[in-house]
Amino acid sequence: MLDIQKIRADFPILSQTVNGKPLVYFDNGATSQKPQVVIDAEVKYYQEINANIHRGVHTLSQLATDAYEVARGKVKDHINAKHAHEVLFTSGTTHGINLVANGFASILKPGDEVVVSSLEHHSNIVPWQMLCEKTGAVLKVIPINDNGELIIEEFDKLLSDKTKIVTVNHISNALGVINPIKYIIDKAHAVGAAVLIDGAQAVPHLKPDVQELDCDFYAFSGHKMCGPTGTGILYGKEAWLNKLPPYQGGGEMIKEVTFEKTTYADLPHKFEAGTPNIAGGIVLGTAIDYLNEIGFDKIHEYENELLEHATKRLNEIEGIRIYGNTKNKASVVSFNIDGIHPYDVGSIIDKLGIAVRTGHHCAQPIMNFFCIPGTIRASFSFYNTKEEIDQMVDAVKKAQTMLS
Ligand code: PLP
Repeated sequence: MLDIQKIRADFPILSQTVNGKPLVYFDNGATSQKPQVVIDAEVKYYQEINANIHRGVHTLSQLATDAYEVARGKVKDHINAKHAHEVLFTSGTTHGINLVANGFASILKPGDEVVVSSLEHHSNIVPWQMLCEKTGAVLKVIPINDNGELIIEEFDKLLSDKTKIVTVNHISNALGVINPIKYIIDKAHAVGAAVLIDGAQAVPHLKPDVQELDCDFYAFSGHKMCGPTGTGILYGKEAWLNKLPPYQGGGEMIKEVTFEKTTYADLPHKFEAGTPNIAGGIVLGTAIDYLNEIGFDKIHEYENELLEHATKRLNEIEGIRIYGNTKNKASVVSFNIDGIHPYDVGSIIDKLGIAVRTGHHCAQPIMNFFCIPGTIRASFSFYNTKEEIDQMVDAVKKAQTMLS
């Protein structure tokens, strides 16, 4: 059992009032809150060891470099990568996906196919559309059913020897649906395609094992898992990272530069041009330690309870429709109330201190599928409580009365 009150005390922001009411923060899908250890680690870095990494012989530079590489090692262990050099620091999921899509421009030929799903965040759609425009490759889309689940038989039919990369999210940000990624990875590999998993919404809830999954790439953001904004990770299998060209040119990513020919550094530096978010990378390691100390098994169990409670309580509301009706779901409830615009509900309940997300959640194709402008999305974290969910349900009922 988690000691929720003790956990909540780790997060200073949670004791704030917003609009005169105690903050109820249910926008964890957009970004998570940060525990004091993470905030302290960021301050400590700048107070004690701030220096540029991988360059200086002086002590601070070495301390900062060591701390950065220790953090890389923590991520490697956390996701069970085979090598630390398969773990690239990025600015977030978006950066990681663009890095891979850009690299595939040197691989794809006209007529080759890229498979994405209907459940993707725009970050996992637009880079592939840009790639297709550049190369003449064709974008294929796995459809969804009314429950917001991928229609897996249709995925099977899309695969052929033309498929060069399949890219899907582990968990949908808009609906919370957990996708059958192991099946997708194995099937894609059977036709020789690479697979990228967008793990942005998965890493706050579970611990991915990239070797067991056997994915070729796994991208995620630090800020959704209690780490700082502007941090992220792209895992890539060594063979793939060696095959892809660098994404950006600059300092740090070279072996030797002459005007005649420049050679590139070994992994991971080949993909880490310029001065990175050093503090952020180090502190992401702190966030991962914090989450592991709580334990992902316990997080999973508790968040499932929150999901069940929220689903049950919200279903009391007349005219509610929850999108993403599947058993395999993360702690996210995306819903609408008959005849009421999601934005209006979001605005009213904000006045009651409740932070939810309203809109298309950067997943417009899903909204188009359901013929809606957007949804109200409450996304729960291990520091939320059932009492907070009850407050949200009361607030939504109040909004419904006011708006109808
Ligand atoms: N993919 C998914 C599924 C997401 O939910 C998000 C952000 O919400 C992203 C990608 C983009 O993440 P970032 O903005 O941190 O790069």
